[in-house]
Amino acid sequence: MSATPISVTNQGFVSLVGAGPGDPDLLTVKGYRVIQQAEVVVYDRLVSPEILALANSEAEMIYVGKKLDFHCVPQGKINQILVEKAKEGKRVVRLKGGDSFIFGRGGEELEVLAEQGISFEVVPGITAAAGATAYAGIPLTHRDHAQSVQFITGHVQNDGREIEWHSLAQSNNTLVFYMGLKQSGYITHKLLETGLDETMPCAIIENGTRREQHVYTGVLRDLPIMAKEAVSPALIVVGSVTSLHNKLKWFN
Ligand code: SAH
Repeated sequence: MSATPISVTNQGFVSLVGAGPGDPDLLTVKGYRVIQQAEVVVYDRLVSPEILALANSEAEMIYVGKKLDFHCVPQGKINQILVEKAKEGKRVVRLKGGDSFIFGRGGEELEVLAEQGISFEVVPGITAAAGATAYAGIPLTHRDHAQSVQFITGHVQNDGREIEWHSLAQSNNTLVFYMGLKQSGYITHKLLETGLDETMPCAIIENGTRREQHVYTGVLRDLPIMAKEAVSPALIVVGSVTSLHNKLKWFN
């Protein structure tokens, strides 16, 4: 059923697995299987305890979680752990919240493995934008509301990079900001400056898909006030689809 990955050497093997946004039942069947088979699990902060509990009791569990502005283990060190464990011949699972290729640095880690000739596979996960909006009853697209959707990092200024704000401010576009709580004032300012209406509906989904999920709704001009109340992890969703939350909410 599942494709056999190409084996480059006789060394260990790394599975880059997306654990989904919170509800452990959102892990894929393939993710479930490779976690059970892993000899080493290298995991991040946003991975739920129920998913970690799937690992074999003999497996070595290595926590490399990061908090915003506070890196427990530097990225270079994480890369080094993956390379070392794989070179010991181990079956390694690199487990991340959501999907590893969406604001997850999965690509950067795989580049290092590729340069070292280590075999790997990628098991996709449900990214927060898909999971949290589904559990909040907010369809990312809808024929009457949005013909496109964009996933944006709210962390840009810290990285010294800027966003093409003009390409975002379209009334029939849904915007999903990851890591945006602290930058909500700036995000609001840029969206208003580039043409979005101050009454554009928006939402913040905190702890999406978890029992503690909370959804705040309002309009764009009030986003910074809403963000002050919310706690991480949270997504900011801007667009008229968020007005459907009241009608379509089903979780909790
Ligand atoms: N790779 C992950 C994203 C990592 S960046 C993914 O694909 O989902 C971390 C950001 O993801 C958080 O700051 C938050 O914006 C978002 N996030 C992750 N889990 C979330 C959740 N359960 N609810 C809301 N937002 C979440």
